[in-house]
This record gives sequence, structure tokens and C-alpha cells, in this order.
Amino acid sequence: MLSTMQDEQLSLATLLRYAATFQGDSTVSTWTGDGVRTQTYREVGQDAARLANALRDLGIGEGDRVGTFMWNNNEHMVAYVAVPAMGAVLHALNIRLFPEQLVFVANHAEDQVVIVDGTLVPMFAQYLPNLTTVRHVIVANGDAASLTAPEGVQVHSYAELLAAQPDTFDFPVVDERSAAGMCYTSGTTGDPKGVVYSHRSNWLHAMQVISPNGMGFDAADTVLAIVPLFHANAWGIPYAALMSGANVLMPDRFLQPAPLLEMMAAVKPTFAAAVPTIWGGVLAGLQAAPQDISHLRTCVVGGAAVPPSMMRAFDEQHGVKLLHAWGMTETSPLGSVAHAPAGSEGDEAWSYRYTQGRFPAGVQARLVGDDGAVLPNDGVALGELEVRGPWITGSYYSPSGAQIDPDKFDDGWLRTGDVGKISPNGYLTLVDRSKDVIKSGGEWISSVDLENAVVGHPSVAEAAVIGVPDEKWDERPLVAVVLAEGAEVKPEELRDFLSDKFAKWQLPEHWAFIDEVPKTSVGKFDKKRLRAQYADGALTVTTLS
Ligand code: ADP
Repeated sequence: MLSTMQDEQLSLATLLRYAATFQGDSTVSTWTGDGVRTQTYREVGQDAARLANALRDLGIGEGDRVGTFMWNNNEHMVAYVAVPAMGAVLHALNIRLFPEQLVFVANHAEDQVVIVDGTLVPMFAQYLPNLTTVRHVIVANGDAASLTAPEGVQVHSYAELLAAQPDTFDFPVVDERSAAGMCYTSGTTGDPKGVVYSHRSNWLHAMQVISPNGMGFDAADTVLAIVPLFHANAWGIPYAALMSGANVLMPDRFLQPAPLLEMMAAVKPTFAAAVPTIWGGVLAGLQAAPQDISHLRTCVVGGAAVPPSMMRAFDEQHGVKLLHAWGMTETSPLGSVAHAPAGSEGDEAWSYRYTQGRFPAGVQARLVGDDGAVLPNDGVALGELEVRGPWITGSYYSPSGAQIDPDKFDDGWLRTGDVGKISPNGYLTLVDRSKDVIKSGGEWISSVDLENAVVGHPSVAEAAVIGVPDEKWDERPLVAVVLAEGAEVKPEELRDFLSDKFAKWQLPEHWAFIDEVPKTSVGKFDKKRLRAQYADGALTVTTLS
């Protein structure tokens, strides 16, 4: 028996129409360095129509890829919604990828048009001659004449293109399963791989993001979107904001702690989203120059494990709740969110908030052991996390049709490469990435646990742990420490500091002091590079006996 329900497609055109009318007074603002420039959602809708008209005139039709090479700003938000709403596919290019990776992903996705921010034109100009499918470049917030294009490529001014177009567009009704946007993984552990989101997946994911079990922001919030729109589907924030009517504050290129704190003081956002390295910088900035940030009721933080000491510091010193979440480019990205269960308080509540969070109904999860057996969710058994659901990818984008990385999929489940445990009430605790866990004498040592503990020492600003080869034990941990401003500490003292938190055999003997932990294009610890530095003898290592 079929239902009597209407078979309405979940389309981003419908979402745009809704936001531009019934939430039309909500705003998106971009920080300019000393203030904001603001558009209402009504105006976003009008600009989206102008952009869609302009792209159609440039020959863009359903399924064609439109790249962006932009900071988080109003124009990027317009592109985020206009491109899929017209039936084309948004491909937000990660401006921080290594040049050869950037060229690879733009060619692999076959981007036809790229919208580029004026300040990024010099960088983009270096890549453009190698982009084989790009026919048009649109320069936003800058001078189109500053870009010299190779033959066959036309350069346009965003402002002029839009000014010449009407502010309405007949957005088509597309099949909800068709492609809306694509993102490539940032290549922390390998080559970038393409994930293609659908209208349906983005719509359902946005509903989860705004639900109280998700990020839970609403029309009363102003969301500071620090997470780049080019990383992991922008954590779903653009579509969730349009759906909820939340105002958005875009930081543009002002991503250092000082300007972030300046824009917070000026706009007083109530919600924010960024990776832990950003929050670490903000915390240090606040220590240097105290400022009231209690207008932030929640900051969602994920992409890498959040040290408990950081969560406590925000909570206890600044009255700000860091909400820990786990996800991947492949999972749209919201996978789990660490709200403490109803009724829990104090240390019990903290013990839940430190985890990677509870799975929502839309994300099925299981743990699988080395032998392929499914393990119990008993909060003890450790295995690789596998997930499935309507906003989780079932494959990687492959223009030739040949499956890319089939090993990442297991009978309809996505293998995450993350190792952890799941409690009976659905909370995920990650131990490590399977590639980063340290295998010492047949036992596992979690690099993340060691990092979280070391960074709890007041003299330590950052700590990254890698496994280094060892004749007797196969691998042993090496801790690379970045000291806090002006601090001094000996490796012996740091090891003693860990001694009541770890078993003796887990205590690291190799220590190196470094100026900076190498980071990936999205601000995560780049352990591949740290391992290479170690192998090249570039680290000065002290080995304790
Ligand atoms: P990449 O794989 O290139 O880093 P992603 O940004 O998609 O690109 O990264 C997803 C991965 O980030 C996850 O598989 C996991 O290893 C890590 N991650 C995300 N959130 C968390 C978290 N809260 N705690 C620990 N690790 C996390």
C-alpha cells in the first residue's frame, strides 16, 4: 500500500524560495575589516536569480559544474544556493590545497566556470593555465581586468554580470537525487576524493543540523561561519541557515584570532563553528587581551578531536559551550553531536560532552573488528566505525565509472577509517584514525589521548603525537610539543605529568620541541608531514630512558 502523501521533491530551489520570502528579513553579513556589509535573504534570493540568469547565458545547464574559489562571504553564499537551485552543481574549491591537488580536483570535477574572489586572483592565475575544462572566470569583489586569461577563457566581473540580469529566475524542479554540490576530501590521508551531495541529502542534512539534537541554531541566532564553505560542505551551515532563518556572519579572509575577536565584539554572534585549531588560537588571544564572548551560547567544534582542557577553559573562563561533533566530507558532514543526555550533570555530563557525540536517527553506525566481525556497542569493544544513511556517500565521484577506493565501502556501509567505541546509548568515542594509532608491541596507544593529555599542561600550546619505528616494539610514540608563549619545560616533567593518566608502557619516551605543528589545508595536524620531518632527521628528538 502506498501512502497518500504528496511526492514533493526535496529541492534547494524550494529552500531558496522559502528563505527569500518567509525568512526574507534574515541576513548574511561579511566582515570587511572594520565593519560588515549585509544582505537580507530577500536580496540573496534576487542575487541568486541574477547569478542563475548570468550562468545560463554563459551556457551553464543542468549538471554542469560551477566552481568557487572564495572566502566565506555574501557572494559565496549566493553561489552556494543559486548554482544548485538552477540545477547545476556547486564545486567549492579548497583554496589551501597544494597546487597540484587543486588542479587535479578542478579538472577531475570538470569545472566549466569558476567564481573567484578578487583577493585570490593572483593565486588563481597560477592555476588557470592548467585548468583544462574552465571556459569562464567570474571575479567577485575585485577587478576582473587584473586577471589575464589564457586563450579560450573569458573573464567577467561578478558585479557587472549581475547588474545586467533580472532579479527573477524560473528555478526548475529537479529530481531530488540529482547532484547539487561536490566536495573533495582534503587529502589528510591520501589523494583527494570527490563526494557528490544531492538536493535530498542536503535538505535532510540541513533539517538535522538545525534540530536540537544537531547543532540546534534557529532564527534568533547569528551564526559565525568560520568553517570554510569549501570544506566538508561547510558543515551544512548555509542550507541550515536558510532553512532556519538564522543570520550568518561571514569572516571573509579575516581568520586570525585578533580579527575574529574584533568581529565578535562588533556583531556579537550567538553561535559559531570552527575546527579546534581556530578555537585554540582564540583562547590564546583571549588570554592576551581579555574580552567578553559570553554572547556566544554555543560553538560547534569538530574535524579533529577537541582537547577536554579546551572545552573546560571555554566553559569555565568564558561561559561559552563548545559542542563537540564528529563528521567527514563523506557524511555531509554531520555524523554525531555531543549533547549530554537529559538529566546528566557535572562530571557525568562532561564525560558525555568529551565524546565525539551521539548518533542521530539519520546515521546508522556500527563497529567492525579486524576480522570483519561486527562488534557490540558496549562502550568497551574497539573497532573501525562504519556508517550509513541518507546523507552519507555510497561511493566516490568517478567520471570514468570505475569505482574509486572500493575498499572504503563495506556492503552498503562507509568505512570511516576511524577507530573507536560506541556506548549502548549511542555515544561515539574515537580513539584515533586507523592510520595514526600507535601499534606498540601488539597493543594500541591512542595518539589523540596522548595529545589531549599533554596539551592539558599549562606550558604547552599544542602537541602532536606520531608513531615512530622501533626495533623492539614496532612503533613507539613521539610527542612534538609547541610551547606556550614564554614557557619552558623539560620532557621529564611532561612525562611525569602524564604518569597518572596512562599505563607505564604507554608513556612516550621520544620528545621534540617544535615551533609549529604542520597543518593540512583545513587546519588539521598534518601527521604525514610530521612523520616525514622525523624520517628526514629534521626534528631534534630527546629520548628519555
Ligand atoms: P580529511 O579526511 O581529508 O581530513 P575530512 O575533513 O572529511 O577530511 O575529515 C574527516 C575526519 O576527521 C574523520 O574521519 C575523523 O578522522 C576526523 N574527525 C572529524 N571530527 C572529529 C572529532 N570530533 N574527533 C576526532 N576526529 C574527528
